[in-house]
Amino acid sequence: MISREHLLDMAKEYGTPLYIYQKEKIESQYKKLTNAFKQSNTKFFYACKALSNINILKIVQKMGAGLDTVSINEVKLGLKAGFKPEQILYTPNCVHFSEIEEAKTLGVHINIDNISILEQFGNKYGNSYPIMIRLNPHIMAGGNLKISTGHIDSKFGISVHQLRHIERVVKTTNLNVEGLHMHTGSEIKDISVFLQALEVMLDLAVRFPEIKYLDLGSGFKVPYKEDEKATDVDLLGIKLQETITNYEQETGKKLEVWFEPGKYLVSESGYFISRVNVIKQTPATVFAGIDTGFNHLIRPMFYDSYHQIVNISNPKGTERIYTVVGNLCETDTFCWDRVLNEVREGDYLMFKNAGAYGFEMASSFNSRTRPAEVLFSKGKFQLIRKREDLDDLLRNQVEVL
Ligand SMILES: *Cc1c(COP(=O)(O)O)cnc(C)c1O
Repeated sequence: MISREHLLDMAKEYGTPLYIYQKEKIESQYKKLTNAFKQSNTKFFYACKALSNINILKIVQKMGAGLDTVSINEVKLGLKAGFKPEQILYTPNCVHFSEIEEAKTLGVHINIDNISILEQFGNKYGNSYPIMIRLNPHIMAGGNLKISTGHIDSKFGISVHQLRHIERVVKTTNLNVEGLHMHTGSEIKDISVFLQALEVMLDLAVRFPEIKYLDLGSGFKVPYKEDEKATDVDLLGIKLQETITNYEQETGKKLEVWFEPGKYLVSESGYFISRVNVIKQTPATVFAGIDTGFNHLIRPMFYDSYHQIVNISNPKGTERIYTVVGNLCETDTFCWDRVLNEVREGDYLMFKNAGAYGFEMASSFNSRTRPAEVLFSKGKFQLIRKREDLDDLLRNQVEVL
């Protein structure tokens, strides 16, 4: 963790609201993963929709991980950050076929999640360019498998119930299927979900002779509340190794397992600092009104997520109860009735777990510009994104009147 003094120094130097990322935490999370899976042939592709600052991408690239992308611009950012095309995986949903063709031109791995696209790709390129198929497992026929977020209503993946259809398209268009993919959701603590997904994919893998990769997506959980635990990746590593070894012995085939961690790599590296504008006492509540809102950190309002909040200006203050709210003209609550060290106007509040889906989901709603970002490493810090200003709000507007 970064010291309170360092956090205050950065807040004073760059102003608030401010996102801060600790480089070493990203590296240590990556080490935890590579250690947990060192027995098996496993690769990690950082899901950069969690946090895509080019400097973060460069850190990830230097660690040796690959990149999971969901848009053509993420692919291009990855290439710019130094990833080789074969280290980039493109997993889009509901994009136009032309974007998939562009990804092909750039030479990255392509994950297709729609039969119509599969057909177009096969008709145009046949087996000249390998692809991966994103599946939605739901409940397996003949089994009682149920994977938490593979709802029948989900827009992601091609239903496993359409396997025959997939096979027909693959056969008639002569597609080279090099991998299967499933992303079973987020914040999955129960490792059996991953193991069930793996079983499903191993069953299917035999139908596609050119398969080299099984991609289990992500959903590794990190602790947000003090008493929460992360997904037990060590145990998953052991179990996965057993399953894969059995498969390899039975079939004589070798498979590489891929994961796409987003949150696991960057969530805990991030801190979000905001300053208290006002304390407002109403008949019912004491509000701490801070200089930010869901325009900068949307997770509490959007997902009901919990972020630990620390009053870094008054760490020994008497504990009191506050409802922390933002400055937007819209209901904008970060937490209700939270115990914090006494909060005074001008104090700095620090939000934990701000690395993933924090800045990345920020907007300029209310014409309040997006925050600055800072990289912290070994006691030193550097600005990695300037705070936006009024010019940024007007940049692409065309004044015609
Ligand atoms: C969002 C996403 C991830 C990352 O999920 P986390 O919960 O942040 O680890 C991985 N793969 C795909 C395809 C995604 O859309």
